[in-house]
Amino acid sequence: MKGPKPTMNSYISLLTATDARSHVHLIVGTNPLAAARCGQSLSAGASPILIAPETAELYYALQKRVDDGEVKWVKSKFQDEHLFTLGREEIDRVVDAVFVTSGARDPLSAHISSLCKRNRIPVNVVDAPQLCSFSLLSTHVDGPLQIGITTNGRGCKLASRIRREVAASLPPNLGSACSRLGDVRRKIQEEDHLLHMALADGDDVDDSIDQSASFNKLVTEADLDAVKNRRMRWLSQICEYWPLKRLAAITDEDVANILKSYDDLGSSNPIGKSSPANNASNRGRIILAGSGPGHPDLLTRATYKAIQSADLVLVDKLVPAGVLDLIPRRTPVHIARKFPGNADAAQAELEEMAMAGAREGKTVLRLKQGDPYIYGRGGEEVEHFRSQGLGDKVVVLPGVTSALSAPLFAGIPPTQRDVADQVLVCTGTGKKGKAPAPPEYVPSRTVVFLMALHRIAGLVEELTGHLETEKNTTADEAPRRALWPRNTPCAVVERASCPDQRVIRTTLDRVVEAVEQEGSRPPGLLVVGRACELLNKLEKGRAWSVEEGFRGLDFGLEGLDLGA
Ligand code: SAH
Repeated sequence: MKGPKPTMNSYISLLTATDARSHVHLIVGTNPLAAARCGQSLSAGASPILIAPETAELYYALQKRVDDGEVKWVKSKFQDEHLFTLGREEIDRVVDAVFVTSGARDPLSAHISSLCKRNRIPVNVVDAPQLCSFSLLSTHVDGPLQIGITTNGRGCKLASRIRREVAASLPPNLGSACSRLGDVRRKIQEEDHLLHMALADGDDVDDSIDQSASFNKLVTEADLDAVKNRRMRWLSQICEYWPLKRLAAITDEDVANILKSYDDLGSSNPIGKSSPANNASNRGRIILAGSGPGHPDLLTRATYKAIQSADLVLVDKLVPAGVLDLIPRRTPVHIARKFPGNADAAQAELEEMAMAGAREGKTVLRLKQGDPYIYGRGGEEVEHFRSQGLGDKVVVLPGVTSALSAPLFAGIPPTQRDVADQVLVCTGTGKKGKAPAPPEYVPSRTVVFLMALHRIAGLVEELTGHLETEKNTTADEAPRRALWPRNTPCAVVERASCPDQRVIRTTLDRVVEAVEQEGSRPPGLLVVGRACELLNKLEKGRAWSVEEGFRGLDFGLEGLDLGA
């Protein structure tokens, strides 16, 4: 359990990434570590200069780098002036960093360290944290992707083991996916920039045709921003929601689709008009199934069978990676292009694809997150498919909803005798992003808010205070809505049943601050009511607590094949 602030003795470092291209690094020493430091320096694009007396015998790998001309060897004992004469001209020859590899016992190490510190030159001394002004991370490198681990002095072997485990858990080719997505991002920015320029030219033209320039500018820039945001948002949603494995395997076609989304996502029907499927093939059908909150073991057997037998799988963006992994490799999969502002277009696209598949006689699985009928547009989809003539060819399978399972995995029983006798599931965001009417305070009520965390501040205001419109009504006109006391217990449950599940327990008056400080980890929901503190009380004096990780299915059955 973690408190809102780190305590004094649990200090953490400020992790930064230094662009060391063309920097000059001094490496003092002759041993294998000196060779390793030269290697690290070179990979970061810096120029290492080795300081060692002419008589010194260099470790063979180090000697090789010198022989190959990669490392310059200044054949001399370390001298103070080296720090101020061997560096880049543009920074008055002060060196950019110093690596001492002889360890803490060598008196020279302490001398170099204090000289560097006094002159603000970053210094690292092997195995002597007290002499270092910075330390090196244990790093995993894959193309432009770098992952660094530090235990802050608790052991470099341990850090390196953790780094290896982290690296092993990543899908292959993640580095090239980073490159690809980076290229897409850059391309979008470049094209947007060109568009801006084109618009600026357009403004000149408009100026000449007797209209207010500012009027033109206002409208066109707003349009442009809308379009621009749409494409960037789509990209950021992919990065946020696609399973890493899928991201790592991103194809040229995916990239083309992202870039193309600029043109067609605005239209509500990106694939084209469909005609009612009077001719729907007899075999074709659509299965609408819930995939549960995250962990694949929470799938129903029915949904599992549907996954195995479908000819085409169309998934919503929140469907978890563990579930996607169960889809046979041969089965085509399409992930919804849903993001704020594009929900309707993405929905229409999926519905069209489902209909097209069914017409071709395919079994199409529409995989939804949680339960398909709980804020999943499941009902709308069934209506749509019926209107297209599919009728009884649509089957709906339930799923474990996050609304009830997330509280459970956070140790919150939404009902309990004498404490809570009703559960209300609501959304924090209404249609077109509007705030829905806030639920009234009932002491024995547990409320679960889905899609609410991005506007938690507004929501808490509405729960604990009257709206402007309510303030203007008199007591005789309408009985005033009962407000939630600010000390009502609540919990933010994020990524329930996923390995990175997180639970923040607090009260309504501190939840906004807690979410602000801890950041968000979507998807998440908010549970409000006394039930929240039944099994887990907040320690006295603490504003909130944070629990990391998911252990809800740790009951010793891992690896047991239940023969789905
Ligand atoms: N049909 C889904 C809900 C879809 S609405 C269901 O029955 O669970 C999407 C919202 O569900 C998210 O904004 C979030 O509030 C909630 N949600 C979905 N999965 C979640 C999870 N694993 N943990 C916490 N909240 C989740």
